[in-house]
Amino acid sequence: MISGKTKTLGIIGYSVEHSLSPIMQNEAIAAAGIDYVYVPLPIKPEDLTEAFHGIQKIGFQGFNVTVPHKVNIMPLLDDISESARHIGAVNTVIHRNGKWIGDNTDSIGFINSLKKNHIKIQDTNAIVLGAGGAARAVIWGLIENGIKSITLFVRNIAKAQQVVDLFSQYLTIQICDWNQKEQTHNYLKVCNLLINSTPLGMSSYNNQMPPVDWKWLAPDAVAYDLIYTPAITPFLKMAKENGHQIFNGEEMLIEQGIAAFKIWTNIMPDYEIMKESLRKILNH
Ligand code: NAP
Repeated sequence: MISGKTKTLGIIGYSVEHSLSPIMQNEAIAAAGIDYVYVPLPIKPEDLTEAFHGIQKIGFQGFNVTVPHKVNIMPLLDDISESARHIGAVNTVIHRNGKWIGDNTDSIGFINSLKKNHIKIQDTNAIVLGAGGAARAVIWGLIENGIKSITLFVRNIAKAQQVVDLFSQYLTIQICDWNQKEQTHNYLKVCNLLINSTPLGMSSYNNQMPPVDWKWLAPDAVAYDLIYTPAITPFLKMAKENGHQIFNGEEMLIEQGIAAFKIWTNIMPDYEIMKESLRKILNH
């Protein structure tokens, strides 16, 4: 029950109407028996600074950040964690010792979903399709966990080069134009982990998928799509038809939420409860 003592968490974004986090986090809060509530906060891009000042005055314990505020929130905060700095985006903010600290749990969410499924990262070769914000979180997680090589398959080399430069002190990342099929073959045949970090495959993209020359992909490569609606994207369907083990973005979503919950409350939430709450909405 919400009382005068209830602590407040939330998610800022525009829009947040379809965010799954309020349901997932409130179910986890209820299961943990703690006096918190997690609320959606629709904030237009032009209102971010004012809204953040409001959040500070109201006394939030912390909040998630989604599109379009993940980068623009950064200069407003007192400190930024190492991972958020490397990724260049914040998805979780905590109010600790009077300071507002930005963190990013997408990276740990992605990595924990792999570890949970016993997918090896250390000394393996990954291909990441796309080079946006989610790709940066994936790349940082892979680097932190000892990946041997990362190649970006992209449509825009110049944009991808900026991402490669961000991580150049840790790993030399290759870039490949995904339309130059022959160039992609050398990378595909030694690939252990093929990750789609583009939105191609979401319902609004009309059954599209990034181009992959499937017959060249190493037979034991794992295919991972960060998208979770639909559960099986055309990319994952093709991967499955070609005999690959597949994963969608649902576990990453849960794991990033678990990491945020732990940051705010110091309590490990119930994974199954969070998964079940998501399943209920996604199946609906
Ligand atoms: P983003 O920053 O906009 O980056 C998207 C990337 O995909 C860019 O490299 C972009 O290329 C490329 N792309 C976009 N539209 C394309 C198209 N029509 N054709 C070819 N390439 C295209 O987006 P993001 O934040 O990285 O998110 C990417 C996906 O990851 C989304 O589906 C999102 O829902 C998902 N995601 C899932 C989780 C999870 O927890 N499971 C977490 C974060 C994100 P250009 O640079 O050339 O535009």
